[in-house]
Amino acid sequence: MNAMRPEEVTLLTEADQALVAGVLAGQRRALAKSITLIESTREDHQIRAQQVLNALLPSTGNAIRIGISGVPGAGKSTFIEALGMWLIKQGHKLAVLAVDPSSSVSGGSILGDKTRMEQLSMREEAFIRPSPSSGSLGGVAEKTREAMLLCEASGYDVIIVETVGVGQSETTVAGMVDMFCLLQLPNAGDDLQAIKKGIVEIADLVVINKADIDPRAAAVTAAQWKNALGMLRPTSPNWQPPVIALSALHHDGIEKFWEAIEKYRTALVPTGEFEARRRHQAQAWMWSLIDSGLRRAFHANPSVLTNLPAIRQAVDDARQTPASAARQLLGAFLGTTLAQTSPMTPGLGS
Ligand code: GDP
Repeated sequence: MNAMRPEEVTLLTEADQALVAGVLAGQRRALAKSITLIESTREDHQIRAQQVLNALLPSTGNAIRIGISGVPGAGKSTFIEALGMWLIKQGHKLAVLAVDPSSSVSGGSILGDKTRMEQLSMREEAFIRPSPSSGSLGGVAEKTREAMLLCEASGYDVIIVETVGVGQSETTVAGMVDMFCLLQLPNAGDDLQAIKKGIVEIADLVVINKADIDPRAAAVTAAQWKNALGMLRPTSPNWQPPVIALSALHHDGIEKFWEAIEKYRTALVPTGEFEARRRHQAQAWMWSLIDSGLRRAFHANPSVLTNLPAIRQAVDDARQTPASAARQLLGAFLGTTLAQTSPMTPGLGS
């Protein structure tokens, strides 16, 4: 078989060319429309979305991508609003995206309703988009990654991906950003939940918010975090994650936060680590899409569908080992005989 070449950019329809031009020109409507296109589950929309993304890909990658995570009430939206307003003053344009798995599981969302970040959402220099609300965490994350690329192509130079400090979503977001920040409350005390959950390992920066309420407690919490982080292997040999106490409500400490972001960039760009991390993320993204594509194809395969009930039953009844069942089903999927079938195994019924 001939080796495949990377997919060529196919001809865009006139409407999609206009969409691409609008995104590149920084038009919010075009950006919003293109994000709606990538979020659509319709097959024809998906094809168009990929064409639009491919056309825009050369104009992506110029932003700093920052992940911000914290439990509900930690002050994420207050912090992002304060940071955003400060960044706009410095001449930046920022996009705020969200990964909120709760919105797809329960229909309600912890993040992403539009009334949050009221000042920021009124600014021309800020683009705020709630979490896609359909699909698994993987699906939601995939759309958010693509939305991030669209925002970059549209000239936003700071991308913030917000997520809730519950479940898998933190690891998922850490896998799509340059820098992952944990927003914590003072007085988390000895009970450093994030340490238990193994989230600390992926933190590039820790923020202790609401330091205005009790500055001493905030300092103690910050010291505890420094200790905890000091005991771990850092995310990079050139970076020791700092801990910053601040008050999002009083806009106090935002500069310190941004200084840390700049320092991180200065430390990791020259060593090539910054780009290496992005390359690694792109590869991991491709593989995760291949995995989910294979899984979908497997479950839609007629031969698998025919054989699955009997084979599952055989595993339930301990008449077939899970390993042999898996081999048999994979064989059915691939149209080959992978399986070493035992005499007790029900036939494939073909
Ligand atoms: P989120 O759920 O993580 O987005 O949290 P919010 O930003 O909605 O904040 C939750 C509550 O904490 C709100 O009532 C905020 O006003 C308050 N809050 C956020 N940041 C601070 C802070 O730095 N100091 C104080 N005192 N309150 C804050």
